[in-house]
Order: sequence, then C-alpha cells, then structure tokens
Amino acid sequence: MVRIFQCAFCGHDIEPMTGISFVRKSGQLIRFCSKKCRRSLIDFKRDPRKFKWTKKYTPKMQPSVIDESDSENEQDKT
Ligand SMILES: [Zn+2]
Repeated sequence: MVRIFQCAFCGHDIEPMTGISFVRKSGQLIRFCSKKCRRSLIDFKRDPRKFKWTKKYTPKMQPSVIDESDSENEQDKT
C-alpha cells in the first residue's frame, strides 16, 4: 500500500519513494517534497503562506482568519 504524503512546507503531494523525511528533536516526522522546502522550513523558518509557489499561499495576510482556517484544513484532509 502506497500512501501519498503532502509536503510540510508547500503542501504539494509527494510522489512515493521521493522527497525528504526530517525528524525533529521532539520525534515528529516531517516530510518534504524537495530540499528547497526542507531548507525553507528548517533552516530559514519561513512561513509558507508568504510564498506564491506553496499551496498555503494567501495573497492577503489576515492573521486572525488564517490561523483558524489553517488548523481546520489540516484535519479535513485525508
Ligand atoms: Zn514542498
């Protein structure tokens, strides 16, 4: 059985047998589609909502609205 994971940064699907897995000190496993995404989140601690090439990109930053809808979206998927 093959599971498709979403990239933790850009939100795009990761093809099976590709991508990068990263384990945080807390033991949390994070998956990335590319080194670009891994560096953006881990090394630069960027916010994916600020980048047009991510699925999480939102043209206008509305912090109060984004925080609520974001957590709901995560649970709705899969
Ligand atoms: Zn990605």
